This record gives sequence, C-alpha cells and structure tokens, in this order.
Amino acid sequence: MSAPDPSLLSLNTATIKKQWTLAQAIDGCARHGIRGIAPWRDKLAEMGLKEAARAIKANGLTVTGLCRGGFFTAPDFLDDNLRAIEEAHELGAQCLVLVVGGLLPGSKDLKLSREKILEGISRILPYARKAGIPLAIEPLHPMQAAERACINTLEQALDVCEALGDGIGVAVDVYHVWWDPKLEQQIKRAGRKRILAHHICDWLVPTRDLLNDRGMMGDGIIDLARIRGWIEDAGYTGFQEVEIFSELDWWQRDPDEVLRTCKERVAECARGR
Ligand code: ZN
Repeated sequence: MSAPDPSLLSLNTATIKKQWTLAQAIDGCARHGIRGIAPWRDKLAEMGLKEAARAIKANGLTVTGLCRGGFFTAPDFLDDNLRAIEEAHELGAQCLVLVVGGLLPGSKDLKLSREKILEGISRILPYARKAGIPLAIEPLHPMQAAERACINTLEQALDVCEALGDGIGVAVDVYHVWWDPKLEQQIKRAGRKRILAHHICDWLVPTRDLLNDRGMMGDGIIDLARIRGWIEDAGYTGFQEVEIFSELDWWQRDPDEVLRTCKERVAECARGR
C-alpha cells in the first residue's frame, strides 16, 4: 500500500467507470492510498448497497458524495430521490449530489422548469434533513441546461439554498463553473456552511465532446490552484474529488495509471494554500 494521500483526494468513480466495478474502485483507492470515494448509484446497485457500505467502511474510506439525485423535472422524481437519500445515509456519505434536471418534458419554459426544481428540492429536503444527509446542488455548465440541469451558476444555486434554509448547499465542480466572472465572489458567499463538495478535472482546448471529454488536472486551462485557494479561504478544507468523464482518453487507460496520475497532478497543480 502506498503512503496515505496528503492532499485529501477523493475518487469519483466516473473517472474509471469503463474499467472498474465499484468493488475494484474501493480496492484501488485502498491500494493507492486515496482516502475518499464518491460512487455513482448504478455501480452501487450492481455491487449491492450493504456490501458496498461494508467494503467502504472496512477500508476506512470517506464517502465524499453519492452521485446522484435530482432530475426534479421528471414526473417520478420523488421515489428515486428518497431512495438516493436512504442509500447516502447507509453509506455515511457527506452529501447527496443533485443534478437538478433540465427543461420540463416538451417545454420551452425555463422559468417554470426552474420553479418546479425549487419545489422538487423543497419536497425532498425534509427527508434529507431527517436522514442527516446534506443535499449538494451542483450547478452545471449552461450547455447542459436543456437536458440535465437548469441551475447553471453558483449564484443561482446559492439563491435556491437561501430560499430553502438548512441542510442544503452546493457542489463546486470546476468543469461547470470555471468560466463564471462571479465565481470568486460566490464561493465567498457560499462559505463553509454551503460548500459541501469540490469536484476537479480540467477543461481541454479543444474539447471534442462536451460531456465525455474532460481533461486530467493540468492538461487544460482551469486555474485549479487559484480556485482551490478561494474555496479554502471560504472555509472548506475537505476533499477534492476527481471526476473525469473521458471516453477518448482516461477511460481507455489502465486504471492504476489513472489513479497514480490523479495523485501526482493534484499535488502538482491543484493544491490549495
Ligand atoms: Zn461533478
């Protein structure tokens, strides 16, 4: 086993989703001294919730988030989100990440879609509070507003949090927010109370596929150290979760190489203060 990771690195299992099952990812984190993990629910279902919870605990890993709940513009959102909250509770996750959903089916009404999202979150929030699972709204890049999330900036996400009160915050994923001129200001506004997760990767130039061509830290143009600095200044000193969707590159590689590279790159270019 290699030395424990000093930079609070967490592996979002999307990063090796084509190569590894969740069981293999848990084992891989343990072997590489990575102390955090963030599973996706399809992998969790495949492994079985109880077994996954047992293996994660046995390896002393912190679950930095469960991906994902949300999609509040779908008609059947409630049951699925309540199950996600239960799963997050069973895993002892630090938060449940919400990808809130795009436009209502067949609709062009962005305002109404956003109202439905607010209403949907407010319906599941009491259950999340009761289960002790903070909900983390992840604002997504506006290119995904139609299909995946029409909460697109940190400011917008924080407005929702403030409207709803306690037990809710944000997941700051650099891929989605790096371009925002209000990023520093809104990270400060979020503060320790609202920052629940920090996701990292890089933005490649050129980007060949908007969903599945994220870069490894250091291969693109995001100033990761600067953003990490803002986040730490705001009071969040928790894990950084590597989340790389990469059909053309990192999903094609040996996953042990992927994990080794993640560790090196976080130390080189994503370390905060
Ligand atoms: Zn993310």
